[in-house]
Amino acid sequence: MRATVMYGAEDVRIEDVPDARLIEPTDALVAVSRAAICGSDLWPYKTMEHSETGRPMGHEAIGVVEAVGADVRTMKVGDVVVAPFAYSDGTCVFCHEGLHTSCIHGGFFGTGEAGGAQAEAVRVPQADGTLVVLPVGQDDALMPSLLTLTDVMGTGHHAAVVAKVAPGKIAAVVGDGAVGLCGVIAARRLGAEHIILLGRHPDRIALAWEFGATDVVSERGEEAVERVRELTDGFGVHSVLECVGLEQSTLTAIAIARPGGAVGRVGVPQDETMPASLPAFYNNVTVGGGPAPAREYIEELLPDVLEGRIEPGRVFDRVASLDEVPDGYRAMNEREAIKVMVEL
Ligand SMILES: [Zn+2]
Repeated sequence: MRATVMYGAEDVRIEDVPDARLIEPTDALVAVSRAAICGSDLWPYKTMEHSETGRPMGHEAIGVVEAVGADVRTMKVGDVVVAPFAYSDGTCVFCHEGLHTSCIHGGFFGTGEAGGAQAEAVRVPQADGTLVVLPVGQDDALMPSLLTLTDVMGTGHHAAVVAKVAPGKIAAVVGDGAVGLCGVIAARRLGAEHIILLGRHPDRIALAWEFGATDVVSERGEEAVERVRELTDGFGVHSVLECVGLEQSTLTAIAIARPGGAVGRVGVPQDETMPASLPAFYNNVTVGGGPAPAREYIEELLPDVLEGRIEPGRVFDRVASLDEVPDGYRAMNEREAIKVMVEL
């Protein structure tokens, strides 16, 4: 089968690899019909050292079940399914707590243990716990929005949940990438009264207004902090969704939180240490977050997508074939595209 393999920075290839197949009785084999390129795929795209064997890429997929192992109960061949970026058994202590990304039998797609989703097919471990059968055909018009449930929409929602967004609260979203834009959707959905987007790209800002942003701050660093203070009577915001992961964005996120506020971090941190420890301490700011339990959130968010109350699929502004995936990485890396959907 054909699949995306990354061999090093800016070296993404579409290659013939051994067919994905069932290994464990709890596996399903899924023929991928839609996949996506993630902002987190751009970190290795910028920095990965050359590898002789390469790394299978992709962790966002919708597809059709092609085969199931003997122990799989909740789906059958031909079902259209959505796979979150992490697989999980759905039965362990952490899955029961809604933290599927810490599943004791879980793992992540596109890491080497499980194959990548930017491929013609993918083996899905723990299929009963991982996959959700969709009540639509694979060419449904809602596919782009359904595809965001694999990662970006769940991740934006996680930032909002950890940041304790609630009706009447003031939220700020740091970062105008696809996750930040989904964070705006999530903050509005959870009832935030004001939503301040910190971002500087006109196309993304335009989408953020439509998703429910009420203010946009395009300054950087200390000036951005000042602008947010001006917008909030000098106090800062209750809830900050940190959707970038860089030292500067984390500093800004903590600096704009009001005393007693919360920061939900979902941008993969690019540093070992967390900045702004002292202001976070003295302001009693809660700083939390991590990989979103996207599987947990699919059931909560799916009805809103199916009934058209949210349209996170609008973050996809480019469609690529599998052969065009390397150029999709380039386009996202050069900020030519917000997010690329792969159609197989
Ligand atoms: Zn589990």
